[in-house]
Amino acid sequence: MSVDEAWVNDTLPGQNFGARVELVLSATNHLLNTRNFPRYVAQVLQGVNAVATKLERTTQPFTGVVPAELKRRVDSVNLNRPLPDTAAALEELESVYLRDAIYFHDVKYASHLNCPVVIPALVGETILSAVNSSMDTWDQSAGATMIERRLIDWAAERLHLGPAADGVFTSGGSQSNLQALLIARNRAVADLRQDPARTGSRLPSLLEGLRIFASADSHFSIKKSASMLGLGFDSIISVPCTPDHRMDPAALAEALSEAYDAGLRPMAVIATAGTTDFGAVDPLTEIADLAHAYGSWFHIDAAYGGGLMVSGRYRHLLEGTRRADSVTVDFHKTFFQPVSSSALLVRDSSMLQHVTYYADYLNPESAASNEVPNQVDKSLQTTRRFDALKLWLTLRIMGADAIGALFDEAIDLAARVGSALAADEDFELAGEPQLSTLVFRYRPLVPGPSPSILGADFDEASTFNGAVRLPENTADQVNPAIRAAIFASGQAVVAGTTVAGRHYLKLTLLNAEATLEDINEIIELLRCTGAQLLAHSTTTGESA
Ligand SMILES: *Cc1c(COP(=O)(O)O)cnc(C)c1O
Repeated sequence: MSVDEAWVNDTLPGQNFGARVELVLSATNHLLNTRNFPRYVAQVLQGVNAVATKLERTTQPFTGVVPAELKRRVDSVNLNRPLPDTAAALEELESVYLRDAIYFHDVKYASHLNCPVVIPALVGETILSAVNSSMDTWDQSAGATMIERRLIDWAAERLHLGPAADGVFTSGGSQSNLQALLIARNRAVADLRQDPARTGSRLPSLLEGLRIFASADSHFSIKKSASMLGLGFDSIISVPCTPDHRMDPAALAEALSEAYDAGLRPMAVIATAGTTDFGAVDPLTEIADLAHAYGSWFHIDAAYGGGLMVSGRYRHLLEGTRRADSVTVDFHKTFFQPVSSSALLVRDSSMLQHVTYYADYLNPESAASNEVPNQVDKSLQTTRRFDALKLWLTLRIMGADAIGALFDEAIDLAARVGSALAADEDFELAGEPQLSTLVFRYRPLVPGPSPSILGADFDEASTFNGAVRLPENTADQVNPAIRAAIFASGQAVVAGTTVAGRHYLKLTLLNAEATLEDINEIIELLRCTGAQLLAHSTTTGESA
């Protein structure tokens, strides 16, 4: 018998009455209730203090730890043998998590769309997890339902969706997009079933001719949703963008008319308000005109750009949302909320019925007719967190303008970094910053044509004053290598992406406390690392 089995057998209830009573007594000490509230306060504060201590000592976003090392540490924990107390568990957590986590509040974290979080939302997080309301039915939530509904109305008003608007909180932009496409699909199917010849048709046969139009730069969750909805990747018609990475309305017009002529049905047109890489906001109004001319659902994925609805300076970029049938907003990106907090909003509340299913034990149809506010009638989830509380307290403590000011700072910082990069001979900017991202690559001028550096793809057109740009293929190797080296050092975290098949670096700025100097330090780090990598590859004779 192993040590673990012996321990389990010793303490398993059933054999020893005394041990069983002791176990139950000590277990009930951990329940959150009237008796144990002092323990609750003390233990949660220990957790809060562990984070506070961490913040006080963090000087860079990451330690650079490798997966194998963390796996070793996590695997060495014996989950069948609890520690004596919270302090011991938090001490252990330091080594398996807190020490080496990625810290988004650090000014040198500039990778994905993760934001530093605001404290009012963390107050909300503490409350919502302790009270533990579940948003599916009124009899599990009461006031929580009203708070969520009020915030949905507030957001819908900011997006000018009109008096019949509604919506629901979701776990993220991907889920919001999935729900929007499910509604669009079911609406199209309901329409097809109006045709007497197809009334009894099974669903798969009705999906055959449905098509979704989205820009080439749209989020991958659109494709994933199409697949989950039984439409297949090939139901998506990828619409080309203009050079600024916004959907080209002329190309959309052409694609729609081509599909229509081929007897296909435009089920949904999807615009993006803030693409993940370039922050591009598609021409919403022009796209709305085209979508509606073809009887299509018009969805706007504003997972990133949604924060513009509270912006003091850039709110006009979201003007076109007034034409949308549905909008995705991620509060856990540009509203500085902790994960998760997102919403799907629709112009016409009756459209949410396309995802309504009834269960007698939970939300019987009779409850709907009696106007019992059961949010599960509008949601893909059943049991669901009261994430709305975080946004509620944020608006009540900080206010919407303050949130908008934080996003505006990030946008302005990106513009300043963009000017600096455009003037920097070692870097090439892939496009003007549009929201708070920068896509660029390290591609310095290198002295004269030198075959050892240039390899086979020396490009005459890049000759400049006797110096030439680093060849494309070398740039394709060195840029991902720079990113990996910096991640391994933990000094900064930057993103990478590809543009037209070429490798680029990306900074996503969401930290209003980061200064131009902070970002310049990241850029110097990229430059030094790039120069070292190039020097190393030429001295060791590695070909590019
Ligand atoms: C982040 C993002 C999503 C996905 O949101 P999640 O919250 O990560 O599921 C969808 N669309 C765009 C444009 C995004 O930037």
